[in-house]
Amino acid sequence: MGKILDGKALANLRADKLKEKVTDLKKQNIIPLFCVINIGDDPGSKVYVRTKKRRAKSVGIIQKIYQLPTDEQQSDLLALIDKLNADPKVYGIMIQLPAPKQINVNQAVERIDPNKDVDCLTPSNVGRLWQGNHFVEPATIDGIMALLDHYQIDLKSKDVVIIGCSNIVGKPLAALMLERDATVSVLHLETKDISEYTKRADVLISAAGQANLVTADMVKDGVVVIDVGINHIRGHLVGDVAFDDVLPKASYITPVPGGVGPLTVESLMEQVIKLTRRANGLRE
Ligand code: NAD
Repeated sequence: MGKILDGKALANLRADKLKEKVTDLKKQNIIPLFCVINIGDDPGSKVYVRTKKRRAKSVGIIQKIYQLPTDEQQSDLLALIDKLNADPKVYGIMIQLPAPKQINVNQAVERIDPNKDVDCLTPSNVGRLWQGNHFVEPATIDGIMALLDHYQIDLKSKDVVIIGCSNIVGKPLAALMLERDATVSVLHLETKDISEYTKRADVLISAAGQANLVTADMVKDGVVVIDVGINHIRGHLVGDVAFDDVLPKASYITPVPGGVGPLTVESLMEQVIKLTRRANGLRE
C-alpha cells in the first residue's frame, strides 16, 4: 500500500522557515513585493491568484494583482511590464496563464526582467536551468523536487516518466531529473502508447490535466506517483491519477488535493524571497 506524500505538511514546514527569512528582510527595511498580472476572467486563474495572495500574506510577502481586461492590448501589457521592471520596489513579476488569444505570451514573458522572473520562464533563466545553473526555479518543479528529497526518494538511474511537456511543468522537470542522473521520458498527446512507457516507470509524474488518465494497469508495483493534474469533476478536485486504484501498487503517491498544489504555492514564495535577497545583495 502506497505511502502518502504529504505536500501540505511539507509546505507548512517550509513556510515556517520562510517566515524567518521574511522577518530578517523586514528588519533591514526590505519589503518583499511581487506582482501578478492577470488578463481576462478565466475562473481557474482567479482562484489561483487568490490562493497565492493568501499564502503570500501568511508568510509576510506582499502580492499585488494587476487585473487587466479580456481585450487588453499587447502594447499596454508590455508597457505595464516595463513599468514594473523599472520599479525597484518590485522584486518579482509573473503573468498568470492562460492569457486571451490576442496576447503573445512568449513576447510578453521575454519582456520581464530575468532578475524579476519568479516563474523561470524568460529565455535566459530557462537556459540557465538547462545548464544546471539555476537562477530561479519554476515553482511546481521546485515543489516536486522538495517533496522527493523530503521523503528521501533517490532518483539516480531511475526511469522517470513525465506525462505532459508544458513549459511550466514537463520540460523544466525533465531538466531537473536529468541533473539527478535519472533516465527521463517525456510523454504528450502525440505519444503513440503512453502505457508502454508508464509501465516501466520507477517514478511517474502526471501533468496532463485529464482525470483518470493513469490507472493501476498502467503502472508497475512499487512505483512512485506524483500527480500534478488539477481537474474539477462534479464539484470535486481530482488529479490525473485514479488514486484509489493506483494506491495499492504504489510505494509512494501524492494525493489531490494536498500533494503538489500547496507546495507549488509555497515554492513560488521561496522564489520571491530568493529574488528579493539577491536584488539586495544578500546571500540566498
Ligand atoms: P498544458 O495544457 O500546458 O499541458 C498539458 C500537457 O499534457 C501537454 O504537453 C499535453 O500534450 C499533455 N497531455 C494532455 N493529455 C494527455 C494525454 N491524454 N496523454 C498524454 N499527454 C497528454 O498544462 P500544464 O499547464 O502543464 O498543466 C497540466 C496540469 O497540471 C493541469 O491540470 C494543471 O491544472 C495542473 N497544474 C497543477 C499545478 C499544481 O501546483 N498542482 C501546477 C501547474 C499545473
